[in-house]
Amino acid sequence: MTQKPYVVDELISAKSIAARVEALAKEISTHFDDTDKLVVVGLLRGSFIFIADLVRELDLPVEVDFIEASSYGNAMESSREVRILKDLRGEIANRDVLVVEDIIDTGHTLKHVLEILETRHPRRMEVCALLSKPSRRETEINAKWIGFEIPDRFVVGYGIDYAQRNRNLPHIGAVRFTEENS
Ligand code: 5GP
Ligand code: MG
Ligand code: MG
Repeated sequence: MTQKPYVVDELISAKSIAARVEALAKEISTHFDDTDKLVVVGLLRGSFIFIADLVRELDLPVEVDFIEASSYGNAMESSREVRILKDLRGEIANRDVLVVEDIIDTGHTLKHVLEILETRHPRRMEVCALLSKPSRRETEINAKWIGFEIPDRFVVGYGIDYAQRNRNLPHIGAVRFTEENS
């Protein structure tokens, strides 16, 4: 697929992300302090770098699992339809679950995933999202931890892609197209 030319404007530096991840991990470690039953569930693929950094800052015994749901495909518009492409490997019944998401945009993806996970009767379940676009929300999501609230821009980097590119950027940036008429 050919892409229109674009540049990526830095929104959140790698240093700011690292500081925020450390702070989130402290809060999460305190919150789940009383348990040895924690499973961190990452939503693939956008959360893979966030989850890797976050779990290394957690001061807790922790298991890691992944689930993949379809949302955007390669387009920049959210589809309202959500499918599970890859399910968890492990059981979460009677476990403490921390669901880790890259971005909460309309909220439909996460809402659907949480509904599925709830049917498996975790002991408790909380959400940590790196980014949130509050102005885009179409359904209520109870996320206990949010890294950064951002404006309605299409962002990439730190695990988050545009058409599978830019996941390896160390910072979070916003895509800006450089050709007006094409
Ligand atoms: P939602 O269902 O909340 O509308 O969208 C959820 C998913 O859409 C996010 O987890 C993320 O994977 C994707 N998404 C939302 N906003 C952006 C964005 O600005 N950039 C990219 N690359 N993906 C996004
Ligand atoms: Mg996502
Ligand atoms: Mg994507």
